[in-house]
Amino acid sequence: MSFNSSDWIKGKKRIHLIGVSGSGMTPLAEILLDLGHRVSGSDIKPVADRLVLRGLEFTLGHEFSKMDEVDAVVASAAIPDENREWMEAKKRKISRFRRGEVLAQLAQGKKLVAVMGSHGKTTTATLLAQIFHEAGLEPCFYLGGYSPALGVSGAWKKGEWLIAEVDESEGAPAQMRPWAALLLNADHEHVDRYADEKAVVAAYREVLGQVTGPVVVVAKEEKAAMEATMGVKTKVTFGWEKSEADYVGQWEGESANGIQFGVMKSGKDLGSFSVAATGRHNGGNALGGLALAAELGVEVEKIRKGLKAFRRADRRFEILTSGPGLEVVDDYAHHPREVEATIASARTRGRARVVAIFQPHRYTRLATFMSGFAEALRNADHVVILPTYAAGEKTMEGAGVEQLVGAIQEKGGKVDLAGSMSECRSILGRLWQEGDLFLVMGAGDVTQMARKMAKDFHGFYKVRDLAKGEGVVRWYEPMRKHTTIRIGGPAQVWFEPESEAALGRVVEWCAKEGVPLTVVGRGSNLLVRDGGISGVCVHFGQPGMSKIEVVDGKIHAGAGARLKQIVAVAKANGIMGLEFMEGIPGALGGAMRMNAGAMESWTFETIESVRVMDRKGKVSEVLRGEFEVKYRRVPRLVEEIAVGAVLHGKPGNPEEIAEKLKQYSRKRWDSQPAAPSAGCIFKNAEKIPAGRLIEELGLKDTAIGGARISPVHGNFIVNQGGAKAVDVLALMDQVRARAQKDRGIDLEPEVIVVGEDE
Ligand SMILES: Cc1cc2nc3c(=O)[nH]c(=O)nc-3n(C[C@H](O)[C@H](O)[C@H](O)COP(=O)(O)OP(=O)(O)OC[C@H]3O[C@@H](n4cnc5c(N)ncnc54)[C@H](O)[C@@H]3O)c2cc1C
Repeated sequence: MSFNSSDWIKGKKRIHLIGVSGSGMTPLAEILLDLGHRVSGSDIKPVADRLVLRGLEFTLGHEFSKMDEVDAVVASAAIPDENREWMEAKKRKISRFRRGEVLAQLAQGKKLVAVMGSHGKTTTATLLAQIFHEAGLEPCFYLGGYSPALGVSGAWKKGEWLIAEVDESEGAPAQMRPWAALLLNADHEHVDRYADEKAVVAAYREVLGQVTGPVVVVAKEEKAAMEATMGVKTKVTFGWEKSEADYVGQWEGESANGIQFGVMKSGKDLGSFSVAATGRHNGGNALGGLALAAELGVEVEKIRKGLKAFRRADRRFEILTSGPGLEVVDDYAHHPREVEATIASARTRGRARVVAIFQPHRYTRLATFMSGFAEALRNADHVVILPTYAAGEKTMEGAGVEQLVGAIQEKGGKVDLAGSMSECRSILGRLWQEGDLFLVMGAGDVTQMARKMAKDFHGFYKVRDLAKGEGVVRWYEPMRKHTTIRIGGPAQVWFEPESEAALGRVVEWCAKEGVPLTVVGRGSNLLVRDGGISGVCVHFGQPGMSKIEVVDGKIHAGAGARLKQIVAVAKANGIMGLEFMEGIPGALGGAMRMNAGAMESWTFETIESVRVMDRKGKVSEVLRGEFEVKYRRVPRLVEEIAVGAVLHGKPGNPEEIAEKLKQYSRKRWDSQPAAPSAGCIFKNAEKIPAGRLIEELGLKDTAIGGARISPVHGNFIVNQGGAKAVDVLALMDQVRARAQKDRGIDLEPEVIVVGEDE
């Protein structure tokens, strides 16, 4: 099937985009939809909803199945030649293009305004698109990020101009024949393609040499940019005070509303301009955009209006939340110079501390700029480093995040290394101090964490408010600290109430706002997924909710009281019948909800009444007889919260009780593993105990990741060190499938699984 360059403009073709969710491909998809093509796309991460709403057919992953219908396939530079869909298209002889080639072909029918440089392209191209749009010129544009003001990242319109970010990373700029160009800077970037600054300069020179109209370039302090424009016919320069540029900017200041600067053009005063952006570097971008628009004949007043209408592109110093407790800013910075400028901007916000959260992008870039990154990052008060976002690259020896951490420490910076996004959240929960600014930087998927964090903080702050100092409230508490199997991502809000009243306020608020609430006992029958728990986790860890008292020979205990302590009090007071509880590592609340049992006895046999709080925060005393009690499940306590109980036994003498305890303890030690576990994983089947069944299936000692089916007891999965919830869940699936296949038995989990996947 042949596909001509004119086919792009004519529309009505069937085009498939590989890697469509990437920032360079999404605007292309929007342009192709505008042109009337039928567009499909695939990616390992979801595509923006607005594209699906416009009819893009999206496939998650690289399993696109309708290749036979397709006229042309486009892939970004990040897609390797071995990509399944890319190879399939080749096999079927479908026309294949790289993104840069398509942009070059689209540009043939328009006057291309190329925005180039190592940093600031997206902001500046967006500014220019906004100026041309406000001036009524109906420009086509192709931006590397979503523009909130324009509602898209790419568009094809009637106007004669096509404003596009031209990315040197694809090596395709040579095919572009821009009508006008703007060069913002020319640092060594895209190190996988260009060996050094010279190679970058040569690439720019190749494109700029072909420009018909004006080339606007940053003034001569930027040596590399000047070299790149040597020999250019119509060169116009811009720069700050003291530069001998054609357009000279006078910095007037920065406030919460943005930046302000005056402009002199060849001695003529153009007045003052304001832009809702941060930092001098963005002032420079705006000045460059202004100069180019003016050179292309846009009236100064329209430029002023366009700049005013600008709203920064997503992820360009995007303030996701801002309050007295915390400000979260998300930025695309992924080059040392961008990191440095972004931290400098963050400093101007006047917050107590700047905590930088950095996800390096590509191993090659990290290797090349290791010390530059360390130098830039140490300017933050504290740094958290995430694993490198590979963007298709293979790992590189000596270019690990561990080296970056070492380099920051060497320069005197304070730094933590997070092994995953959820670990990063746990670290931030621990680091957070009132008034902080969390600055999230990187070109990878770290933005999703930034957005989640900004949202999650509100819940935490509200609960802290509601608690009124009665108890402990923490943000992103790592759940592995609170489960006996030592596994689990962070709890969004961790709340240990000191009183029923404080608990009641939070419970009521959760119900009203639809915030999920999870009660966590000693975490001894709990498996928390690696992504942690959303909403509020209540834990009765404070003295006010775990008291034990004996009144008239009966035990009155708070839900947080440990079974072991209850048994000790019972023994000291000559109360017999609770000894079976001694080796169960739970608290009273969890034991009641599970109706925990051992040695032929059950928790509810010892219960006289329970203090229960409903989901509106109201407490009532409920007698034993009113509860439906099932095997390892008391339905009412799944819905409501046990806050305390009265337990009874029969009179006995302490020696007799001590003898029984010894006997039970021996029995336990012989039959249970000592390694961290979550107790019994499955409920016993009708005909056979789960442990025996697993042993008979030959599955004892089977391991996945750090999790292993205990060689001591088949119904225990132990954490051998570093196990994740996904490992345990995979083992559970394996056991269930085998039990079903070999014995026709449907094993039901006893362990309670909560939370979300990473
Ligand atoms: C080594 C080991 C040995 C074990 N041996 C036994 C045993 O012999 N017999 C046995 O039955 N179990 C045993 N278990 C499992 C576990 O100890 C029990 O199920 C225990 O009762 C759970 O209590 P917990 O406080 O840890 O609850 P968690 O594990 O924290 O929670 C369990 C469930 O109870 C809910 N819950 C917790 N507190 C409350 C509350 N106040 N109100 C309402 N719901 C609540 C939770 O939301 C969750 O759904 C063992 C576990 C381990 C690790």
